[in-house]
Amino acid sequence: MKAARLESVGKPLKLMDIDTPPVPKKGALVRVKAAGVCHSDVHLRDGGYGKIDIVKDLGAKLPITLGHEIAGIVEEVGEDVRGLSSGDRVVVNPWIGDGTCKYCLSGLTNLCDSPVNLGENTDGGYAELVAVPDSSYIAKTGLSFSDAAPLSCSGLTVFSALKKASLNPSMVLLLVGAGGGLGSMAVQLGKLLGAPTIIGVDTNTKALNLAKSLGADITLNVNDPDFEKEIKSTTDGYGPDVIVDFNSSTQTLSKFIPLLAKGGRYIMVGLYGGRLEYDTPNLINYQKQISTSVVGTLKEFRELIALSDKKYLKSTVTSLFKLGDVNKAIDNLKKGTAQGRQIVEI
Ligand SMILES: [Zn+2]
Ligand SMILES: [Zn+2]
Repeated sequence: MKAARLESVGKPLKLMDIDTPPVPKKGALVRVKAAGVCHSDVHLRDGGYGKIDIVKDLGAKLPITLGHEIAGIVEEVGEDVRGLSSGDRVVVNPWIGDGTCKYCLSGLTNLCDSPVNLGENTDGGYAELVAVPDSSYIAKTGLSFSDAAPLSCSGLTVFSALKKASLNPSMVLLLVGAGGGLGSMAVQLGKLLGAPTIIGVDTNTKALNLAKSLGADITLNVNDPDFEKEIKSTTDGYGPDVIVDFNSSTQTLSKFIPLLAKGGRYIMVGLYGGRLEYDTPNLINYQKQISTSVVGTLKEFRELIALSDKKYLKSTVTSLFKLGDVNKAIDNLKKGTAQGRQIVEI
């Protein structure tokens, strides 16, 4: 079968012919129809997230097939699997816990000590077929493949982060990077989870227009000289109650944490890399909560798929690529020229 693989870090993924993986006993072989291109692929292709190395720290063995936002058709199920059949249209949660560690047993499968992360430490979805070792991480979906695929990373990540925000109708939610793959999910899920007012922030008009079209009430360009005044005036001088940062770079953290309302919550999600430096008495006196969120749990994945099947979410897909062109899509993310979600169709 064909697969786009990382052979050596820092080099483009290479289209190769490799053997079809065996059918996992407790999982399934899925014929990939669509795979979302995530900003993590930029980091993984470059060798990891900052000081976290794809081989030494994440446990990948090169060459590895990247691609972790996966939707397709079940090709064959393992002998121990019930409730899933070949021919089912599915979306795959690639963040697979071992089910036995302290974290998995308390439901925090996203923090598993020995995870199988498809497209990160195990072969993923930039291929004709992917082996998914645990069938509970495979959910049936009625959505199109290209709309279903981004739910497994960008959708899940946003859903989990926003659930941690405990949104309520009096709150203003600000999204840093509102026109990107995660942001375009967040403007929609923010509304569904109870934030009546969403401020979408990004760096260019195309991204801001996308955020607006998907439900952001106010869109602001971070490069606008009156940017901070606008934030104050749209929040009656208080600042946003919740800020979700899809960059979490040194620049965004230093710019946006001071804008947070007293008692507000700042949630770092993006893995752009950077350092958090802030005056602690200032955080404490204003009781600002600085927190993080990474992908999501199996339970949250199931909740999100159930919600998406009710067709509450608009498509975030902006462009389609062939498997052989996956590097172009990753390059677009690296250059910052991609809006919404780019999808590889297989
Ligand atoms: Zn991702
Ligand atoms: Zn575990």
